[in-house]
Amino acid sequence: MSGAPPSFFTHLECGAACGAGPFDPRDRHFLCPACGLPLLARYDLAAARGWSRESLTGRVPTMWRYREMLPLLPGDEPVTLGEGFTPLMHAHRLGAGIGLDRLFVKDESLNPTNSFKARGQSAAITRARALGATTISLPTAGNAGNAAAAYAAAAGLECQVFIPKDAKRPFIDECRLYGATVTLVDGLITDAGRIAAETGKPLGWYDVSTLKEPYRVEGKKTMGYELAEQLDWRLPDWIVYPTGGGTGLVGMWKAFEEMEAIGWIPPGRRPKMVSVQAEGCAPIVRAFERGTEKAEPWENATTAADGLRVPRAIGDFLILRAVRESGGTALAVSDAAMVEDMLEIGRLEGISAAPEGGAALRAIKKLTASGHMRPDDTVVLFNTGGALKYLDVLGG
Ligand SMILES: *Cc1c(COP(=O)(O)O)cnc(C)c1O
Repeated sequence: MSGAPPSFFTHLECGAACGAGPFDPRDRHFLCPACGLPLLARYDLAAARGWSRESLTGRVPTMWRYREMLPLLPGDEPVTLGEGFTPLMHAHRLGAGIGLDRLFVKDESLNPTNSFKARGQSAAITRARALGATTISLPTAGNAGNAAAAYAAAAGLECQVFIPKDAKRPFIDECRLYGATVTLVDGLITDAGRIAAETGKPLGWYDVSTLKEPYRVEGKKTMGYELAEQLDWRLPDWIVYPTGGGTGLVGMWKAFEEMEAIGWIPPGRRPKMVSVQAEGCAPIVRAFERGTEKAEPWENATTAADGLRVPRAIGDFLILRAVRESGGTALAVSDAAMVEDMLEIGRLEGISAAPEGGAALRAIKKLTASGHMRPDDTVVLFNTGGALKYLDVLGG
């Protein structure tokens, strides 16, 4: 795209209290070299104040319409498969049953490879390619591996996926569809992460693990920009987000901070963020209830919602901070409830929802029943992925 507008991306810095940086984005960076916690991308926000919302008119209907606030350096072009700018559906029938007039479903199942992981991988693999990577690697519970494999294919890079051997079959098969090499791991995503790092480090593989590299969160933050644009620059009262590694929640919170700084939304009107987890793996919910800054790892994590089976998130403190600063909450849902509600989303709205989307619906029901959500509140349910790779949970 010649004549494409420049990005305001300038540098990386530590996202934790240590605040180390700036780090030069023309070099490879993963975790903060000083404290070992995630790095975040930073932009020239003063210059970005000159960028107007009106300039979005007529742009590509993908997340790259916000390219000024995405990690591109001069001369870079995105690796894209058309991700983002997914529909925000007013879910009238679902809302009527719960007593919410303004319930919306942000349908992330319509992304390439059927989940919002496409956004993160589009950004991460754009940087990986720009930094001269030839092989990318990652541990995955399923969807991240599918997205990484697809974007690696589009970028002409090799992809090494490490996935728990009990992952659902369609996740494993789809990695292979895009030409990735799949290693089945006897353990959880955290074990897969350790093995991927040990194997890849001596070989110079570029590791695109959640929040261990700084750019997936940049892709996922575009969900925050989109919500604002699609709701005509009035953010909802609530965002209900099924949380595993937390990239999307952390990313949207960052997007709101950026949009306030560049004058796109008024300060102090951010949504309450709700982090939803599975009863069989709820480290963030437990830490939220205990009032701790970080989350203890969850023992024997198990749930039908593969995306939520993350016993330990390196960005736990960022998730907890966003939930608390927003005045939101964290709650866990049983597997039976999320499957019931995944079916309800399908039956009432014709939307293909993963169990993770079902979990978000159940959380909304609980928060309306308890009086936290009021009938005229604007509530956004994140349907983070589609049902097709999870159909085994329906039994029969
Ligand atoms: C990965 C995933 C999640 C969790 O996303 P995070 O941003 O890592 O918390 C939720 N739902 C689905 C379908 C996923 O694939």
